[in-house]
Amino acid sequence: MPTELGLRIDVDTYVGAIKGLPHLLSRLRAERCQASIFMPGGPDRTGQAMQRILTQRGYLAKLVRTGALRTYGPSALATALFYRNRSIVDAVKPLLQAQVDGHEFVAHGFTHTVWHNELHSMDAQTVSGHVQASVDALARAIGRQPVGFGGPGWQGNFASLHALDRQQLRLGADTRGSCPFLPVMHGYRFKTPQVPTTLPSLDEFSQGLPPTRRDIQALFELIMHQRFPVYAAHAELEGRGHQAFFDELLAFCWREKIRVVPMTSVLQSALAVGLPSCEVIQAPVANRPGLVATQGAEV
Ligand SMILES: [Zn+2]
Repeated sequence: MPTELGLRIDVDTYVGAIKGLPHLLSRLRAERCQASIFMPGGPDRTGQAMQRILTQRGYLAKLVRTGALRTYGPSALATALFYRNRSIVDAVKPLLQAQVDGHEFVAHGFTHTVWHNELHSMDAQTVSGHVQASVDALARAIGRQPVGFGGPGWQGNFASLHALDRQQLRLGADTRGSCPFLPVMHGYRFKTPQVPTTLPSLDEFSQGLPPTRRDIQALFELIMHQRFPVYAAHAELEGRGHQAFFDELLAFCWREKIRVVPMTSVLQSALAVGLPSCEVIQAPVANRPGLVATQGAEV
């Protein structure tokens, strides 16, 4: 049974930052706990994300099946109409509040959709440029270095892990897996530890949205059986239409005496017992289209 739940809050859109994040911050403040805020440094191109329906196999079916079309559709339109290409880091008020509350920040790509859709076709120099721009923009907004980098959509490869090493950040959060580890690819050992997301996110629940009792129970069961559980909430989901689920997650942690902590705390706890070195592979994850960077066998 774990003593901590690592919580990351992905803020992928400007609307998520101004409308969803404040709610999550106030809930965390009430519970006196901290999380890691994942935020892209560049413009919000949510409108263009709709092109994924055309370019990514299975994406439309997934949107319909999980109800994400209902969740994201109006937000995407609102963003496109009212906040065209606004930078997410320009959401000054919630950003300041997050800092006052002691949350830590993780760079989440420069343009969320570009990284998500195009990483694997970029050359190493372009990948490195994206990582640098993302870290610089977030650092400018918060007045200090972010603690890490997490590729949008859990997209990561050799070039991105290499670019990450050059940034000398404390951690990477590009992968799905079971525990913090040192990544290895093609025999190359990277030095920036990965803190993987270990649990399904709300939009991956098998019975779709709104979350069913069975899926919520399954999530809680998983948490109870993991040593270093990490959950990724989204400002656009738990911060807006699914606040009751977020409250239930916090209440569950409180009941089970599991502290909600940011990524650096998860890493710290894992470092105390030593990090394994593990292969990074590309693998599918249930109820999410495409492949994601995944913690593989120990090497
Ligand atoms: Zn994201």
